[in-house]
Amino acid sequence: MANIFRNIPSVNQLLESPQLKKMVEQVNHKVVVDGVRTFIDDLKEKVQEAAEDIEIPTPADMADHIADWLTREDQPALRSAINGTGIILHTGLGRAPLCKAAIDEVAAISSGYASVEIDMHSGQRSQRVNAVQRLLCELTGAEAAVVVNNNAAATMITLASMAGGKEVIVSRGQLIEIGGSYRLPDVMECSGCKLKEVGTTNKTRKSDYENAIHEETGALLKVHPSNFEIVGFTATVSTREMVEVGRKHGVPVIDDVGSGALIDFSKYGLDDEPVVSQSIADGADVALFSGDKLIGGPQCGIIVGKKMYIDAILANPLMRAMRVGKMTLAALSATLKQYRNIDTAEQSIPLLTMLSTPSANLKMRAEKISAQVSGLGNVGQCEVIESRAMLGGGSLPTQELPSFAIAVPVEGRSANWIAQKLRDAEPGVIGRVHKDRFMIDMRTVFPSQDASLVGAIETLAGETDAA
Ligand SMILES: *Cc1c(COP(=O)(O)O)cnc(C)c1O
Repeated sequence: MANIFRNIPSVNQLLESPQLKKMVEQVNHKVVVDGVRTFIDDLKEKVQEAAEDIEIPTPADMADHIADWLTREDQPALRSAINGTGIILHTGLGRAPLCKAAIDEVAAISSGYASVEIDMHSGQRSQRVNAVQRLLCELTGAEAAVVVNNNAAATMITLASMAGGKEVIVSRGQLIEIGGSYRLPDVMECSGCKLKEVGTTNKTRKSDYENAIHEETGALLKVHPSNFEIVGFTATVSTREMVEVGRKHGVPVIDDVGSGALIDFSKYGLDDEPVVSQSIADGADVALFSGDKLIGGPQCGIIVGKKMYIDAILANPLMRAMRVGKMTLAALSATLKQYRNIDTAEQSIPLLTMLSTPSANLKMRAEKISAQVSGLGNVGQCEVIESRAMLGGGSLPTQELPSFAIAVPVEGRSANWIAQKLRDAEPGVIGRVHKDRFMIDMRTVFPSQDASLVGAIETLAGETDAA
């Protein structure tokens, strides 16, 4: 045993190796020394615990191994990825990709100083929302607007500002949970409002709201049940009907429209996505929505509506905790500008491009990629198959679009093995595993990524280590 220990090189010996000298230059001295120490300690432990003598790798092998490991560890946890899941607004993959104009604007605004809270003409202090308020009002028909960190924050600050300490009436059919920790009853409690449930899971009528209103009522809240559908024997109350009830009793109506469609998405085959301007036209006092869902912009929560309510929200001390930075404002403003011309928006906003691409194009690209990689090394014959892409991001699972996927087999390997190798590739590729087949859905892959995708699949070809 003692002999074996003597065969383990010292930290200094390893640091002299060319591989690790290079790592010191790339990363830094401390990180590499710590890495080497950890490796040696682990190895000593292994030797001690092993029932029989184990072979000590040569110092050169050890240095290689440590350098590989350090390189992997040094990769940022936040990496760019190719989305082959077919889920367009994948929350785990950061929802909507930004349009080029937004990226350019973020670069321009964030690389120096910017007029975040100063009116450049008068030199007076201004509100940071001014950067986007005019555009939001123009696109939604609302009087005023404000932007916070996300729609969860928008819901919280709106409820707190408009109905804090009071009752808020919600239909039992709309008490939703949207993944993660977003549950409407909990958000309601955090904002200091009392939830007053009305109706039943499948049916709520106008009279249910009417009968529940009393002097402690602060608001009527409508929530778009984005991610589920109640079918069969149902009844819901429209925004317009809720506004009628609210007006009669002097109670404001808050409409959480969720995805924030600025245009009608039914032309892309997506039904039931409420359009923000319709909610305002129907009389909602405020409407809330996300910036990174159907708008295709940065993560944020947008509140539009009557000026008196927006002013109350701006005056709420929570505003300071929820406000957005200049990068978000820059990206949102550039994205919103694209909507002034919907034809060019389809070209410029990646989300709209993905939705409007004919599936015949996807099939053609899939076939081309399949032909390029099929039979390379261990990669088997790929197959192009019809698939269904999904909107995702807390939308209805039934909101599907026709698509095409490439099924990629690798000789003697499981679908999960392929999935893991491609996630580790650069850039990482996230696909879908279905019935032990690994698939890449083309609806969410940009044409500009096709070459990288081929490159990533090519790395699978040379994988020869034992299964
Ligand atoms: C997505 C969604 C939310 C949460 O929005 P975030 O921007 O993720 O905070 C809230 N309400 C509805 C109806 C939604 O669809």
